[in-house]
Amino acid sequence: MNEYDSNRILDLTKKINYKETNNISEANCYVLNTCHIREKATDKVYHDIGRIKKEFRGKKKPIILIAGCVAQAEGDILLKKENYIDAVIGPQSYHKINKVILNLENKLNLKNVTEFDVIEKFDTLNLIKNSDNKVSSFLTIQEGCDKFCKFCVVPYTRGPEFSRSIKELVQEVKQLVNNGSREITLLGQNVNAYNFEGQKLSDLILEIAQINELKRIRYTTSHPKDFTEDLIRAHKNCKKLMPFIHLPVQSGSNKVLKQMNRNHSIEEYIELIDKLKNTIPNLQFSSDFIIGYPGETEDDFEKTLDIMSKVKFTNSYSFVYSTRPGTPSSNLKKINNDITKKRLMIFQHIANKIKTDYREKLLTKISPVLFENKTKEKNKYFGRDEWFNSVIVESNEDLIGKIKNIKITKVSRNTLFGEISSKLIKKEFAA
Ligand code: SF4
Repeated sequence: MNEYDSNRILDLTKKINYKETNNISEANCYVLNTCHIREKATDKVYHDIGRIKKEFRGKKKPIILIAGCVAQAEGDILLKKENYIDAVIGPQSYHKINKVILNLENKLNLKNVTEFDVIEKFDTLNLIKNSDNKVSSFLTIQEGCDKFCKFCVVPYTRGPEFSRSIKELVQEVKQLVNNGSREITLLGQNVNAYNFEGQKLSDLILEIAQINELKRIRYTTSHPKDFTEDLIRAHKNCKKLMPFIHLPVQSGSNKVLKQMNRNHSIEEYIELIDKLKNTIPNLQFSSDFIIGYPGETEDDFEKTLDIMSKVKFTNSYSFVYSTRPGTPSSNLKKINNDITKKRLMIFQHIANKIKTDYREKLLTKISPVLFENKTKEKNKYFGRDEWFNSVIVESNEDLIGKIKNIKITKVSRNTLFGEISSKLIKKEFAA
């Protein structure tokens, strides 16, 4: 979502004649767009500011703005601790960035802009063309969360759930497609909670699927509780909707899920996965896991290993529990570090084995790949298959924006390598 926000910040600042530069020493304004989901995000801000300070020693100081969720959560502390920062702007107020910059240019004060003005934000953004011109683009359709998982900072930094109207989203998809996008990933902290005047995520998907030049649709991140029948049906009926779902489970233990306030049991989660797999057999899943949540016993951890082995997630994002200040779980007693680190190692070993086995089965298989860009190596193109695996192919033909059937010839840990195949395929990739 920060990538989407950063692109929109660029679109906004163009209105006051700012433009992007890749040359760190020539910038006269820095916007550090931050994420607060993991620990150390604030340290990173101080570190980056240190680098900028060094770069500008003895020169005119650039404008320094901290945007995103760190600004929202720790704005006052940042301003107090680091006077090189000129202003902090929260994720629901970045449409005011031009006013902040112009004020700073005129030595006026507007330091902490962290109101939850999400309606005003999107009203402002809708008036400005989205200039993102990537083959695969992000589009924020929903923000905020009302779930209040005990470990999560999102309800406090992004605010309550808000969904944009289908009409404005269709318009923005058309802009992106006209700019060259062939794949759109619909974004939301709780994307399948999307609900605009009764219209749901499945309605939006079916609506944008009508746009001819749009070839692929993805969405992230879903909550198991909001995975309704209509969305399952959309997967069955909409060929443009990719057969890959990121569905965070966090833990395999009902006790821990309850303590986290995840609002579903592990049995309900498995039932949902089974239902999805029975309806769309070539579906693959990825998930998020928190290892060592306060109170997690060996038995709870074993249950997390069980769910990993049962579902066989082809990708997983696992982290040791880290306290986010201000969340309810921050008051709980943490588990000993050595124990959590050991558990994480065991978990990741199993997760990697599942991933490797899956990827090895892809060798010699043929699958459609949408190519996004050229790599630094001559005539090599980067793309993704329908299951979001990275694929690299050598070609004399310009492949950017095209979908080709690719036969996989080599598999590495994070990348597949292949060649263009002339064979017609069925969905044989789903190993
Ligand atoms: S559902 Fe997701 S975004 Fe919402 S509180 Fe839970 S973890 Fe955070």
